Amino acid sequence: MQADGTGRGTLRLVLGDQLSAPDRLSSLRDLDPSRDVVLMAEVRSELTYVRHHKQKIVHTLASMRGHAEALQARGVTVRYVRYDDPGGEPDLPGEVKRALRDQPFDRVVMTRSGEHRLEAAFDSLEAELDLPFERREDDRFIASLSEFFDWSRGKASLTMEFFYRQMRRKTGLLMDGAEPCGGQWNLDKENRKRPPASLKAPERLLIAPNAVARELMVAVERDFPDNFGTLAAFAYATTVEDAERLADHFFADVLAGFGDHQDFMRLGDPWLWHARLSAALNIGFLDPLDLCRRAEAEYRAGRAPLNAVEGFVRQILGWREYVRGVYWLRGPEYKLINALDADRELPWFYWSAETDMACVKDAVETTRDHAYAHHIQRLMVTGNLAMLLGVHPDPVDDWYMVVYADAYEWVELPNTHGMATFADGGIVGSKPYAASGTYINRMSDYCTGCRYDVKERTAENACPFNALYWDFMARNAPRLRDNPRIGFAYQTLDKMGPQEREAITVRAEALKTRFGATPRPINR
Ligand code: FAD
Ligand code: SF4
Repeated sequence: MQADGTGRGTLRLVLGDQLSAPDRLSSLRDLDPSRDVVLMAEVRSELTYVRHHKQKIVHTLASMRGHAEALQARGVTVRYVRYDDPGGEPDLPGEVKRALRDQPFDRVVMTRSGEHRLEAAFDSLEAELDLPFERREDDRFIASLSEFFDWSRGKASLTMEFFYRQMRRKTGLLMDGAEPCGGQWNLDKENRKRPPASLKAPERLLIAPNAVARELMVAVERDFPDNFGTLAAFAYATTVEDAERLADHFFADVLAGFGDHQDFMRLGDPWLWHARLSAALNIGFLDPLDLCRRAEAEYRAGRAPLNAVEGFVRQILGWREYVRGVYWLRGPEYKLINALDADRELPWFYWSAETDMACVKDAVETTRDHAYAHHIQRLMVTGNLAMLLGVHPDPVDDWYMVVYADAYEWVELPNTHGMATFADGGIVGSKPYAASGTYINRMSDYCTGCRYDVKERTAENACPFNALYWDFMARNAPRLRDNPRIGFAYQTLDKMGPQEREAITVRAEALKTRFGATPRPINR
């Protein structure tokens, strides 16, 4: 008999982004294969709470099915429910109750989910069940939540940089004793170089879909025909082995160039020197600390420069851990903040890519074709434009949840609601990442081929980002003028004559109307 009950074993629920090896997942660490059952379910509610990109569905379901097979091959009993199985329940609590009706267990165990929506559903389930329901912390992160909460306590602002330094000290990553390697904590300034056109990014390893993924590609086209995105270029790792191949390839062939051009965007080149590891990381195939240690080893061995390795480590040890902390610290109310009173609709070209703005077109097409866009495209093109247009946070948050294969609310929301659109009023970033076409021109090759003129502000062919940027600054002056990090923009605005300011307003309003960024109906 088990110490914890009558010997009927434990039902262990594993969610679609908990596909980590049993010794890495808190719910499976004490798994007893002789009597426990692992429950995995492709429920409708998870497939439809947003209309996920087709590649996200294929990635998740193929990975879940492969993971279930791998567990079974290790002698684990898996109760696996496919989304089209007859008799399936619509949601995860329903599947737990169904499993308990079919077979008695002593208790239910799971690792906590990554979303307030699901935590609320499991709270209700816990109240209903008449047997122990153990929900364990997700310890697949480098910082525990209590560690983050302790760090945040009493702080007027949650500056990522200081959290990151604490994490460097804690892990010893890129530390020489008590000092950061190279004497500086953050080498971001070295990572904004424009590559010469002749410098090609490395050839990328593209994972060919396996039989499970191929079968799902057909099923998803059939059952989710109207969801956003195409499947033809599907190249995500759907097994841990393929995820490791992607990581090996990154460290061997890409990491050394990761830093220099990290902020650059190039037409038709979706990946440049980026890692392409977020989907495999977020679903549980890769371990964040392991990736950071591997990157450090490349630096220590002299195979990758410090600015590349520090940049990569900061994204994972710093930003990824930090946004998770903010998500749980701020709770479900975080999503409701609309600090800039943004009230417009999201333009249709976020879905169709039908726009003459070369930068937006490329970002949306990349997103549609790969369920991916790199950080600067998400932040400075689509996110920046939505913020400048004054799009309401809800459609923006929803768009980012829908369109990326790596989208999970704990990481998506603080990035979108905080970093990209400043809807949180400055919890994540100390200033809005607002930029005119000048920034995009400096950090991309988009503008040379664009029908708009990046140097013009209010002419008919002027880059839309320019008038929208100044209109945003003028509109939000009461909120932002005193922010020392953007004071320079107001000095320029103040020097503009009334005619120019009027021309900016007229141009900005015309663009909003033309783009379909019209005011949202009240109470929507
Ligand atoms: P790289 O640029 O090569 O970075 C390496 C790794 O660092 C990534 O794999 C990722 O795990 C981590 N990382 C980098 N930046 C961030 C960040 N800001 N926050 C958290 N982790 C980071 N990332 C997601 O994983 N899921 C999302 O849903 C998501 N939504 C975003 C929405 C917006 C508006 C913005 C601006 C950023 C978002 N990010 C999100 C962060 C970042 O854009 C992606 O992690 C990155 O583009 C993934 O590609 P990559 O693996 O090539 O990353
Ligand atoms: Fe984008 Fe403006 Fe440059 Fe065109 S000119 S690519 S719209 S920044």
